[in-house]
Amino acid sequence: MKPFHYFRADATGDATQAAQAGAAFIAGGTNLIDLMKLEVLTPDRLVDISRLDLAGIEATAAGGLRIGALVTNADLAADARVRRGYPVLARALLAGASAQLRNKATTGGNLLQRTRCYYFYDTSQPCNKRDPGSGCAAIGGFNRNHAILGASAHCIATHPSDMAVALRALDAEVETEAADGARRRFPLAGLHRLPGDTPERETDLAEGELVTAVILPPAKAGCQRYRKVRDRASYAFALVSLASVITLDEDRRIAHAALAFGGLAHKPWRDPGAEKVLAGEVPSDALFDHAADTLLRDAKGWGSNDFKIPLARRVLKAALHEATGTEMPA
Ligand code: SF4
Repeated sequence: MKPFHYFRADATGDATQAAQAGAAFIAGGTNLIDLMKLEVLTPDRLVDISRLDLAGIEATAAGGLRIGALVTNADLAADARVRRGYPVLARALLAGASAQLRNKATTGGNLLQRTRCYYFYDTSQPCNKRDPGSGCAAIGGFNRNHAILGASAHCIATHPSDMAVALRALDAEVETEAADGARRRFPLAGLHRLPGDTPERETDLAEGELVTAVILPPAKAGCQRYRKVRDRASYAFALVSLASVITLDEDRRIAHAALAFGGLAHKPWRDPGAEKVLAGEVPSDALFDHAADTLLRDAKGWGSNDFKIPLARRVLKAALHEATGTEMPA
């Protein structure tokens, strides 16, 4: 690991100004420290934000929750209001990492964690995300955990977070503070970027802008589920995951379907077209196939990850059958 300067911030303004001047934020450090040990990232300065007053979960005036960016994944999953009103979030959190990591990892850090593309972590390999313009070793390489939607010829990495997928299904918003003290609040959908020709830019945050909280809207009625398919039963990233919030009306038609996928793209993936196919309809296997066709219309495999296309269809259909109480054909 390369030497670096360390500074602990006592106020958000100190932290954002240090970051604008080139320091990297560190809170739980569960991803950053690994990256520094491997010299994938070599920041000269770290600004420790772990003592800032951002570790609370409060009810909002609108009836939702405001989750401070330093709330740990373990505390968030255990919060009674989250378990009761947003079980898909609690389940996604508990499906991620290990108990030890969840005790340290924070809400803000979880959102901003880096891809687990093998080549990103191997500094002997070309990687446009780590070293812009060097190429992408995953294209033509081993790409089992890579994207099938929204990828580009420059990067096919996926976003690894389970928590972010659930937050996307719940229509969460993100609150930030910039180095000049300006605060903004925007949908989580606007935080992460697709790779395009600048995969090194993963979010639309400005230099020094700090995620301070995540806002949940009031809890919705309906069936909330988190399904995660992975190579082993724990401590593994999703090959395909799905956070679903599905509501039926009194005629048992689908009134509302929010479907957010992990493991498929560079960001939590939600397709309004696929959700629209389901809205107002009587549940059926044919309808669910139509939704899957819509979701996967532009899907592209890269060799080792071709299996994700049929797998995503099966995950979606299984979730829809479970939520609507219909039989999945054998
Ligand atoms: Fe790098 Fe993205 Fe290619 Fe992985 S997929 S090697 S992160 S450019």
